Amino acid sequence: MTRARGLAAALAAALLLAGCAQSVDPIERLGKKAAEGVRPHGPAPDRNYRHWGLTEPLPRPPRPAARPLGLTPDGTAHHLPRVLDHVPTRDPVVFLTYDDGAERDPRFVDMVRELRLPVSMFLTDSVVGPGYGHFARLHGLGAGIENHTLDHRALAGQPYAGQRAEICGQQDRLASRLGVRPRLFRPPYGAYDATTLRAAARCGISAVVLWRAAMTPADLVFSRGDHHLAPGDIVLVGPDESTGPNLRERTAGVLRGAQRRGLTVGRLEDYL
Ligand SMILES: [Zn+2]
Repeated sequence: MTRARGLAAALAAALLLAGCAQSVDPIERLGKKAAEGVRPHGPAPDRNYRHWGLTEPLPRPPRPAARPLGLTPDGTAHHLPRVLDHVPTRDPVVFLTYDDGAERDPRFVDMVRELRLPVSMFLTDSVVGPGYGHFARLHGLGAGIENHTLDHRALAGQPYAGQRAEICGQQDRLASRLGVRPRLFRPPYGAYDATTLRAAARCGISAVVLWRAAMTPADLVFSRGDHHLAPGDIVLVGPDESTGPNLRERTAGVLRGAQRRGLTVGRLEDYL
């Protein structure tokens, strides 16, 4: 090859590289990822899975189909909220949900960050108390912040005004503390009635989220159906207890159970 041809080839290669570099511009990619709701920060998840008790990395969940919003422009729901204990999807995903907000382990924040774990936190104001900073950090990592009432009272059988105060009050509290106005609500103890649904709709709630699987200190337990995780399962990772495995260990237990069934973790807010 002559020197000139060599130079031309090198130049062409450089241009090609420049072209490639342009199409995968890191800033552009970050912007795209942010727009897709994927956190651009943090190390790749497959570098850290062993550290969190997994034997293989968690696959990234598929992109879910578009979902209907079901809200009017003023933020109230068109209809009564849907009530779900699982999401009707064939995507190989389960959903991790956490209640109350009593456990505020900074290492759990590390776990969510390092595994890029989509989680949904259903918060009760009187339980979170002064601990909203912890949930602000989780929210900054992409965690969904959802409503679990102001005071964790059993709502079923209560008058409309009281139920509405519990739900709408927590909407306002979460808006002022974390800048979010949830669409998802979980009634304390999973107990609700027709009045709860009317009150929740008035507060801008589009779905009442129950669970089919719960991670107890011992193992996963299922409220109905097959006694193993299945696509679309909503998992309550709890209950919050001072004894038994901590939140990280219970979460890892759910993740291992999901992996045994060929499932990964999806973002509940992408599906509802
Ligand atoms: Zn609760």
